[in-house]
Amino acid sequence: MKKKARIETIFTQALLEWHQQAKLRTLPWKKVNDPYKIWLSEIILQQTRAEQGIPYYLKFIQQYPNIHALAAANDDEVFRLWQGLGYYTRCRNLLATARLIATELGGIFPNTYADIRALRGIGDYTAAAIASFAFGLPHAVLDGNVYRVLARYYADEHPIDTLQGKKHFQKLADEVLDKKNPATFNQAIMDLGASICSPRKPQCSLCPLSNTCNSKNSELLKILPLKSKKIVVQHRYFNFILLECRDKIWLERRETKDIWNGLYQPFLIETDKDLNDIALHKNAAYQGLQLSGTATIVAQTRQRLSHQLVHSKLYFKHCKQPPSLPPCGSWLHKDTIKSLPFPKTILELFEKKGIFNAIGTSRNI
Ligand code: SF4
Repeated sequence: MKKKARIETIFTQALLEWHQQAKLRTLPWKKVNDPYKIWLSEIILQQTRAEQGIPYYLKFIQQYPNIHALAAANDDEVFRLWQGLGYYTRCRNLLATARLIATELGGIFPNTYADIRALRGIGDYTAAAIASFAFGLPHAVLDGNVYRVLARYYADEHPIDTLQGKKHFQKLADEVLDKKNPATFNQAIMDLGASICSPRKPQCSLCPLSNTCNSKNSELLKILPLKSKKIVVQHRYFNFILLECRDKIWLERRETKDIWNGLYQPFLIETDKDLNDIALHKNAAYQGLQLSGTATIVAQTRQRLSHQLVHSKLYFKHCKQPPSLPPCGSWLHKDTIKSLPFPKTILELFEKKGIFNAIGTSRNI
């Protein structure tokens, strides 16, 4: 046997033996082979840690036990269930894909890699995960954990954020994959990356690959896997004006191709820098409301999204008469807003101001 092929065999065997004996946490989607449940868990886990995703997964499974139930659900109800997970594009994709499978594919989940990959919201990793976990197909997954294990094991300095680097690591992952047992192998390599070959404190002394690993206990652990560029973070400044008139508040649904599409928000003035109260009241969009008097700042927060840092402030203004507002929103009775889906940032601002506590009482928001 050639040296490279021998190393791959050692890698694969050592990993599978370790996985069989390792006492790992059981997660509700592990050892499941229903493609609907696997797909649902993978979409939830795309930008969410497992601990955070578990209650959402369980709620979805309970409320929508199969693809037909999800496909028939009301959009706002699904968004409400998703609330708090963020990255709402995943939720929109979930609904669109469930409806496509229910109506055009007779409710049968596609069972080839190419057909799975063609579904909305499914990239290479998710397609390989569903193909292997649900259908036992020989496709190697490549997520952050797998990149780290492979880059360190082979002391491989290809950057993982370039197309060429991704292709290179996919080839490596395909080479070590146990083709007869792809589901177990994929789970094992991801579990190793999450539990032993962790980003900051890898435990090489406990690692089943340590005898042949090229980075074991070395300085390389601090730099691998390599990235070619740093993420440039865009700062955005959101000034929300919560307008109250009698027992109603004005809200609009975000319909742009931007973050939080489909969720509700108060009147928004986005600016390219942080504004103090005086500057906000002089802002043309604020002046356009023709409010009598000033709005009061009641809460502020920041939320980091993958490439954006959103700085948000919530202003409050009680109006005796409805001001001039764009037609994109409407005045909604305070009692109804509890049932609407909001982005995490707005929920946090509302909670700081006690908006939900004030609903149903006689006091003003
Ligand atoms: S020996 Fe250390 S660096 Fe190598 S794969 Fe194991 S934990 Fe990672």
